[in-house]
Amino acid sequence: MTTLNLKEIFESFDVFEKSYVLQPEDVAFPAELGDIKEPLEVFVKITKDRDGYRVNLSIVGSVELECSRCLSTFSKDLSQEREKHIESYPTEENLSLSPEDLEVSFMEEPDIINLEELVREELILSVPMKPLCRPDCSGIHHHAFLFEEEKEGPKDPRFAILKNLLSK
Ligand SMILES: [Zn+2]
Repeated sequence: MTTLNLKEIFESFDVFEKSYVLQPEDVAFPAELGDIKEPLEVFVKITKDRDGYRVNLSIVGSVELECSRCLSTFSKDLSQEREKHIESYPTEENLSLSPEDLEVSFMEEPDIINLEELVREELILSVPMKPLCRPDCSGIHHHAFLFEEEKEGPKDPRFAILKNLLSK
């Protein structure tokens, strides 16, 4: 786990910049959404401002998703750059101060950032609701079933039943 204690860091620096390589097991991406197989490269730049911290997050990596139409797995590039503002839980006073163009995360302890958590949150938000292996994926076809059977032999009794129905 990569924890950044911003209070400590900003006692001696005005800007914090660092590159990290995050292992899939540390990112702990939810298995029902997809599977991260390769380490992620992350670059973080943090500056302090009046209400909290401005965090620039640059992520390079991909996740394996299941196509919602044809059910094949494919790799989706999730590389992205994000700017976030990290604040403590809003009080009436600071609520109106948040710049609207920034994404805001509220932290219980705004001076402590867990990098894996931050990255996981961004990646989850970038996974499409209905992932597609390619924009024009046409889903499962009878041909696909037959091809699969010819190539590798029947794996599933449904293929044989389907083939019988089609050949009548
Ligand atoms: Zn597909």
